[in-house]
Amino acid sequence: MVSSARLRVINTAPSNPDGEYVLYYMTAFRRHRYNFALDRAVELAEDFRKPLVILEPIQLNYRWACVRHHRFVLEGMRDRARALQAMPVDYYPFVERERGGMLGLLEAVAAQAVCLVTDDYPTFHGPRILEQCATLPVRVEGVDHNGLLPLRTAPKGFPSAYAFRRFVHATIAEAGLDRPSVDPLGGVRLPEGDVAGAIRERWPPVSPAEFDDVSGLVRALPLDATIGAGWVTGGSTEAREHLDDFINHRLAAYDERRNAPDDDWSSRLSPYLHFGHISAHEVLDQLLAGTDWTPASIDTSARGGRPGWGLDASRTAFIDQIVTWRELGFNTCLHLPQYDEYASLPDWARATLTDHASDPRQWTYELEELESASTHDALWNAAQQQLVVEGRIHNYLRMLWGKKILEWSPSPEEAADVMIELNNAYALDGRDPNSYSGIFWTLGRYDRPWGPERPIFGKVRYMSSDNTRRKTSVTAYLERYGPGGNL
Ligand SMILES: Cc1cc2nc3c(=O)[nH]c(=O)nc-3n(C[C@H](O)[C@H](O)[C@H](O)COP(=O)(O)OP(=O)(O)OC[C@H]3O[C@@H](n4cnc5c(N)ncnc54)[C@H](O)[C@@H]3O)c2cc1C
Repeated sequence: MVSSARLRVINTAPSNPDGEYVLYYMTAFRRHRYNFALDRAVELAEDFRKPLVILEPIQLNYRWACVRHHRFVLEGMRDRARALQAMPVDYYPFVERERGGMLGLLEAVAAQAVCLVTDDYPTFHGPRILEQCATLPVRVEGVDHNGLLPLRTAPKGFPSAYAFRRFVHATIAEAGLDRPSVDPLGGVRLPEGDVAGAIRERWPPVSPAEFDDVSGLVRALPLDATIGAGWVTGGSTEAREHLDDFINHRLAAYDERRNAPDDDWSSRLSPYLHFGHISAHEVLDQLLAGTDWTPASIDTSARGGRPGWGLDASRTAFIDQIVTWRELGFNTCLHLPQYDEYASLPDWARATLTDHASDPRQWTYELEELESASTHDALWNAAQQQLVVEGRIHNYLRMLWGKKILEWSPSPEEAADVMIELNNAYALDGRDPNSYSGIFWTLGRYDRPWGPERPIFGKVRYMSSDNTRRKTSVTAYLERYGPGGNL
């Protein structure tokens, strides 16, 4: 049973027991394993003894739509089309071929449904999708599988990782963790049935032949092609391979080496987490395999300190990123209105940035100069180059990248806009709650005032490229992403 803390009824319409199937409208948790929304859809299909249909679409009408994001999503859909072939479900992958081409599809498929389950995701198109679902004439349930803890467990927003960690530790230690099925469709028996032929004719699903050539499929779509494919292939299979590789080869030194750009010692999972190709629960299962960790291992007397996790240094460092920091971002998006606007920064940060708003800037750059990596700073240019070509920036340099945009922008408000634009257009993990966590962290969110007070930054934490070069190794990074690099 999916915990009630993860379920929300989105509208007032009743279920229709005479409907043809239960519909799972998969829009954010794009995976068929470790997925509470799919668990719930299977549960309903079993209760009503009806077939299960999964409709997974990708539309053209979202901000920053481009070849890079589309291709990653479609590779994930290909993965599912193949995996679900032998499963008791009608999988309906749909790609919008021209703008507006999906209009009416959801309504048509829902009209034949007993009821509908969909993903409850708090940012970007998540809220808009829920609004659309609320108008449907059958019961719609939204299921939250954003993270390890149900989003609404936290009654309020938290101003710092420390405060949120304390809450997470206390909650897990007291209530434990709910768990999704590893394989919700495994061993399940459901009647066969699918979406009516007339609907399939009007809105044809992506065919197996098209999935054999995802690049060709994406090329034929009216998309911005200037931002090409990213550095990784999408899909849950690929996500699991990255996870295994990380656990087997890099986890042991994650604590010590993850901040060195030359090493690139992190998990590289963020695009897969962003598009829902893998869940935090699956990552945690692998992370904790071979340990005897249970929720009782949490030490609440650490009062929000990292050691409270009760794990070795590397596992602690990693769980702290993927649970504390990642879920803090989701928490903020739920509880802080305008989380993506400059006005949502803490008062102290806005006050100190305002005090220094008219400080002279030695360098200022326009969006185009930044986008084309044409600044005077070789390390910054290399990070931007990595973003443009691969769709990612090494985590440590991503902080520097943001701090320099603040330093080089005419105002902090413009810095926020530029970061949002570049991050969300190019990063495969962009448009995520943690896009806004990272961007607004560079401007003071989740942080405290620092001294000495500096030009432009005021009391906001400062970072410099020279210090970064001194503190960590960037030689190989510059060779790869710098001018004439071997990308
Ligand atoms: C300016 C700026 C912009 C950022 N934009 C994004 C973004 O668009 N999308 C995004 O997912 N993250 C963003 N981050 C956070 C962080 O840089 C990435 O999550 C991380 O680099 C992803 O690489 P990884 O998966 O190898 O991380 P790992 O170090 O392997 O961490 C595992 C997971 O933990 C989470 N995580 C790690 N670091 C952070 C962090 N600082 N804040 C929140 N969650 C974290 C991510 O889900 C990550 O995949 C941004 C940070 C900054 C400073």
